[in-house]
Amino acid sequence: MPYQTPTYQLLKELSVNENVGVHAREVEQRRQRFGANVFEEVRRASIARLFLEQVKDPMILILCAAVLISLFLQEVVDAGIILLVIVLNALIGVLQQYRSEQALQALKDMSSPKAMVLRDGEYQSIDARELVVGDLVFLQAGNIVPADLRLLETVSMRCEESMLTGESDLVEKDATLLYPQEQPIADQHNMAFMSTVVAAGHGHGIVVRCAKDSEVGKIAALLKEESEEKTPLQQRLASLSRLLGIGSVVICLLLFLIALAQGRDLLDMLLVSISLAVAAIPEGLPAVVTIVLAFGVTAMSRKNAIVRHLHAVETLGSVNVICSDKTGTLTQNRMCVSDVYCDNAYGRANRRLLEAVVLCNHAHLGSDPMGEPMELALLQHAKEAGIDVEALRRQCPQLHEIPFDSVRKRMSSVHQMPQGTRMMVKGALEQVLPRCDRLLVEGRTLRLRGEDRQRIQQACAQLARAAKRILAFADRREDGSFAEEQLVFLGFIAFIDPLREGVAESVETARRAGIDVVMITGDHPMTALAIARELQIAQGEDEVLSGAQLDALDETSLRRQIRKVRVFARVTPSHKVRIVDAFKQSGAIVAMSGDGVNDAPSLKRADIGIAMGKNGSDVCRQASDIILTDDRFETIVDAVSEGRHLYMNIQKAVLYLLSCNLGEIMALFLAIALLPSMPAPLAAVQILWVNLVTDAFPALALGVDPKEQDVMSKKPRPKKEGLFAHGMGLFTVLNGMYIGTVTLVAFRFGLQQDIAHAQTMAFMVLSMTQLFHSLNLHSLSRSLFHSHLMANRWLLLTFVFGIALQILVCTLPLAQQLLHTVSLDLISWLVVMGLSASVIAINEFARLFR
Ligand code: ATP
Repeated sequence: MPYQTPTYQLLKELSVNENVGVHAREVEQRRQRFGANVFEEVRRASIARLFLEQVKDPMILILCAAVLISLFLQEVVDAGIILLVIVLNALIGVLQQYRSEQALQALKDMSSPKAMVLRDGEYQSIDARELVVGDLVFLQAGNIVPADLRLLETVSMRCEESMLTGESDLVEKDATLLYPQEQPIADQHNMAFMSTVVAAGHGHGIVVRCAKDSEVGKIAALLKEESEEKTPLQQRLASLSRLLGIGSVVICLLLFLIALAQGRDLLDMLLVSISLAVAAIPEGLPAVVTIVLAFGVTAMSRKNAIVRHLHAVETLGSVNVICSDKTGTLTQNRMCVSDVYCDNAYGRANRRLLEAVVLCNHAHLGSDPMGEPMELALLQHAKEAGIDVEALRRQCPQLHEIPFDSVRKRMSSVHQMPQGTRMMVKGALEQVLPRCDRLLVEGRTLRLRGEDRQRIQQACAQLARAAKRILAFADRREDGSFAEEQLVFLGFIAFIDPLREGVAESVETARRAGIDVVMITGDHPMTALAIARELQIAQGEDEVLSGAQLDALDETSLRRQIRKVRVFARVTPSHKVRIVDAFKQSGAIVAMSGDGVNDAPSLKRADIGIAMGKNGSDVCRQASDIILTDDRFETIVDAVSEGRHLYMNIQKAVLYLLSCNLGEIMALFLAIALLPSMPAPLAAVQILWVNLVTDAFPALALGVDPKEQDVMSKKPRPKKEGLFAHGMGLFTVLNGMYIGTVTLVAFRFGLQQDIAHAQTMAFMVLSMTQLFHSLNLHSLSRSLFHSHLMANRWLLLTFVFGIALQILVCTLPLAQQLLHTVSLDLISWLVVMGLSASVIAINEFARLFR
């Protein structure tokens, strides 16, 4: 077992040189031999599977019954057309479904985990799925372990392995351990296991087992892919369409019974009823929503927001609080040293301070700089002050480290110096200064008096008020205790981190959209407030709450105060959870961004968790609903606007489909019930045609309507608000009734000539009124004449194409035969056009009163 094997032997067995890693040319061979790092071939959408799913649809079965009845009636043409409808319907369904699944899968791939490996002697970041046995992988706090690793080196590394062991305590990792006897997983401290989380420290190890053979691979239950989730809207629509479906079937049955009582032709009416059922059941409803969502999130990914969970799209429209990180999101995270305070004055750093700057630091300069921007800025500063960074590091090797974390807000590093062992500490001033009892001034170590502390704190506050970030340094001779106490204060360094361009505008956009922007940072309250002021996030000190103040508040007082706070400073990840909870309890819908190792719980807790894709940790990404690929605040605000836009488009498509279906049911039902001596106003194939041509395409075109200009000048939509709020239910019903009525009017008018003429007129008016009505839905709030109709060319195209097609089907002889239409005279055409276009006039008129 790898945990029982010395590392040199393991490297030999797997033929890997520790300084070079696996060679690119051996990768494939290793994959063949030991297996790939994927659990099972991801089940991609296959056309065949999708087709089968379509055939299972009850609708298809009903239509097949219609084919049989037509054949029985010896209406071979009708049977052929219905068959064609079945095939076309299924084909369109399959294509749409296939494209949406592809789009969603592409998004999944974009957010899949990465691993840092050494290959061919170079560090590279690759897809974790590409790993092979023998790869040397680097781990740091926040990483999800990408395969089972035997650790080769660890620095204060601790892992969270509860998903494997059920034990929530962190497990210490130590690469130097070796076990002669067999050990349970929980006690293999020289191993890191796939899918567990590095909670602290860092290290590297060699891949010994990939996915299927890994410990987690043995727990089959964990391997199940997240089941396809349905968003709340999708669920509601699915049940709505089920309900409407049952309603339609009942109405059709009723219709059939009425027709039977009236003594109409039985089989003919059966066919009409079935066609009506097919037309009326809004089976397209959930499909349209899925397609609009899939295309919408693909568009969002092009704008740097990768949606991991579809429900986030809906929730985005309701967000009224955005909690944003400061560093890197509101600011550029391009640190630059601006001031140095040491030897009791502002000026140049002395040698001891520079040594601490270089040694208590993980970054690497060189041609391809690596590390945190603040640490890089420190190294750059030391280099400019004449220090040979690499030489100093070689001369003074590291013996021990107490790593940085956002709760301690400091780190310590112990080194073998020429004069002896020394511990160097760097961190937030409040974390370092209280641990000092001496002060270095001009090479002499003096006692640190109260007035010295005050002077240092004042100097620091002055810089913080100028929006600068401060890091304090201290050291001590190390006696083996590794205690961060009785330190010698060396000085502090201030950094400028410029604001990101465009943030202030986005904050303003959010405010106009009724969204509060809140800054959450580990930085000093004064620095945070200064930056918040520049961005117009906050004005006064009363809007700032520090982590310590937060600790002093109980849940009730926090909930009461929280909506007034705009800046949370010096907070830890656990504070963030409390902040989200308090906001939610105060009735807010919260989007929260996070990047840190321990931010996952708060991201999960927020209504929408947003992870930073560039600088965020793996755990954050995994816990998030949305990943920002550019880490910018503007992208969050853009995503909100995109979420509102998508919701509105879904709403338009749904309202359109429902009013059309209602119109169809009404026309047929009333005509048959009220005109007992007349045949049905529409032939079965005509109903199916309307369903296929004039319902589905305009609905899809409405689904890709461009964003209305005023999406961000409205208040957020209350989360519980449905699609039919603000009179939209009535709007749908009235429009449905109107469509039904004009169809009947046309039928009645056509009866002046003959049945075929009347049916043709009803058919034309029903389909064209629907096409005209799709234009009404282009904007729910504006008049059609002010709504930039040209912006949606798909809608215009379906409209023009639809009208042209309708004209063709009642003029071309072949089409006339197939769809039972006849040529119309000029007067009839004028009536058809007038009645159909009147749906626009009536809606414009109604708008005047809304
Ligand atoms: P934000 O939460 O907006 O990203 P932040 O980066 O300041 O802000 P943390 O990373 O939690 O938040 O850092 C908190 C504080 O810890 C910093 O203000 C700084 O004083 C200190 N600090 C940050 N990084 C280091 C480090 N590498 N070594 C020592 N101290 C650090």
